[in-house]
Amino acid sequence: QAKNEGKGNFRFFTEEMNARMTERLVMETELRNAIDQEEFQLFYQPQIDVLSGNIAGVEALIRWNHPKRGLLTPDSFIEVAEDCGLITAIGDWVLQEAISISAQWQKRFGTPLMMSVNLSPKQFNDDTLVAKLRRLLHAVGLAPSTLMLEITENDLIADHQSTHLILNALKTLGVKIAIDDFGTGYSSLAYLRTLPVDTLKIDKEFFVRSRSDDTDSHIISAIIDLAHALKLEVIAEGIETYTQMELLKMKKCDIAQGFLIGKPMAFDTLQRWYDSKISVR
Ligand code: C2E
Ligand code: MG
Ligand code: MG
Ligand code: MG
Repeated sequence: QAKNEGKGNFRFFTEEMNARMTERLVMETELRNAIDQEEFQLFYQPQIDVLSGNIAGVEALIRWNHPKRGLLTPDSFIEVAEDCGLITAIGDWVLQEAISISAQWQKRFGTPLMMSVNLSPKQFNDDTLVAKLRRLLHAVGLAPSTLMLEITENDLIADHQSTHLILNALKTLGVKIAIDDFGTGYSSLAYLRTLPVDTLKIDKEFFVRSRSDDTDSHIISAIIDLAHALKLEVIAEGIETYTQMELLKMKKCDIAQGFLIGKPMAFDTLQRWYDSKISVR
């Protein structure tokens, strides 16, 4: 009896695994075609200077216009892309697109746009990254300092030896570097202060959870102080309420990003958002 049940469970288990593997294989195949079919799109989420309220930059966030499933956010496909080695090709597309949009903005508004792009660890460790970036920026005549690369805290600490080499090469090129999702990882202060980075982004978990939670606001304050002590710029992401914005003003956080300010949007919408903002002033 027990033996039969065991067998039954085992069969059920493999069927479920099979279904999941098939789903993944289907997605891999679809991902392979997605670049050629031009199914990827970048959305841009505005970031504002906390003190002045002026636009400080945007973060490029990838979306996949899936032919059957509609608009997909990265959480549903980036991991698969990383596992099957497609992330470098996708990442190259992202960099090229974001840099070209940044140049368009500069042409249209006559002022540079700080453009942040997320890098996956494979891209960060790609030997050709610096050369690629130099070529892309040069092609559209953009200053490297208008591009910010975001690497998560956990990805940065994964490989101590090469991390410094890569960061220094990027620094020499002149692009900015931000540590993304800071505060939930395991980097030590001693290590953090040796990294040549420019910006620290406080993980949105602290804000999304913290509406009424006093402990989190203490942690947020501590991270802002820590960043400033290390002479780093601080960006708070996931800002959804005016109360949170008040905390950022009080703590002199540099930059805010979140649904309160603006959701990630297509470039056309971003330009209209910006037009309406400057016409108010
Ligand atoms: P991230 O870099 O930490 O990006 C911030 C995420 O928080 C975005 O999710 C954004 O839509 C969301 N967000 C912003 N403000 C708020 C808010 O006020 N409330 C809430 N609840 N959420 C907010 P998204 O676009 O789904 O991206 C998820 C993650 O996917 C990103 O996290 C980033 O790690 C990754 N990602 C996005 N684009 C790319 C890309 O081009 N390449 C790579 N390698 N990863 C990417
Ligand atoms: Mg990011
Ligand atoms: Mg983040
Ligand atoms: Mg994240």
